[in-house]
Amino acid sequence: MPERLILLTNDDGLESPGLALLASVATSFGRVVVVAPDRNRSAVSSALSLNGILRLEARAPDRHACDGTPVDCVLLGVRALLGRAPDWVLSGVNLGLNLGEDVFYSGTVGAAFEGCLQGARSAAFAMPLGADGDRLRPWLMRFLSRWESIPLSPNRIWNVNFPAGEPLGFRLTRQDNRHYHDSVERRMDPRGAPYYWIGGNAGPTYTLSPGSDAEATTDGWISLSPLRLDLTDPDLLAGGPGLADIFNGGCP
Ligand code: MN
Repeated sequence: MPERLILLTNDDGLESPGLALLASVATSFGRVVVVAPDRNRSAVSSALSLNGILRLEARAPDRHACDGTPVDCVLLGVRALLGRAPDWVLSGVNLGLNLGEDVFYSGTVGAAFEGCLQGARSAAFAMPLGADGDRLRPWLMRFLSRWESIPLSPNRIWNVNFPAGEPLGFRLTRQDNRHYHDSVERRMDPRGAPYYWIGGNAGPTYTLSPGSDAEATTDGWISLSPLRLDLTDPDLLAGGPGLADIFNGGCP
């Protein structure tokens, strides 16, 4: 069997310690090619650069910086560098958890979804800010040594979130709900013009619903959420063609 080809990226940038942690574990499983943003590109989701040129800069063998988004990194990695779909696309380890609706904003998760669109077994990883990466290394090792025993479903990824402290083990979870706070601050620049700052001081809070990703990490477990690209709502769809009559009624 040929050596596994593993494409590694993130959204925190090539120099992130989270990427170094993931790379150090991934090398046990095959040839690791890193293509990561040349700076922090957090919260760019699945953004694709269509209106500008992109550059790849080799910093070392199999280690490249890209001036685009995480999705650009995966696309260029597969199409411009590797020439074939990698076996795995691993994204992270993000510094900061990706729970609940965070997955819609996360560039880490966006890159993993691009990996699955390119035909690779893909996962996004995140740990809390300030977490001890060395403590998580054996758990990453365990996940990667076993996840191939789960059949690969098209258009699915794993969203893996680590707890603070020593994990109790793995839990299969679903997306929780994130609560948004008034987090756009208006400030004045030195010349008297207003500017705005998204985020503010209030961090996200979550519902912590039973079986959720946020509940699992809060309780000390590693959260494994299977995510899919198809966002279609099966409940509304089950309403059948009759639902469309709401809109068709009175049509000529
Ligand atoms: Mn990030």
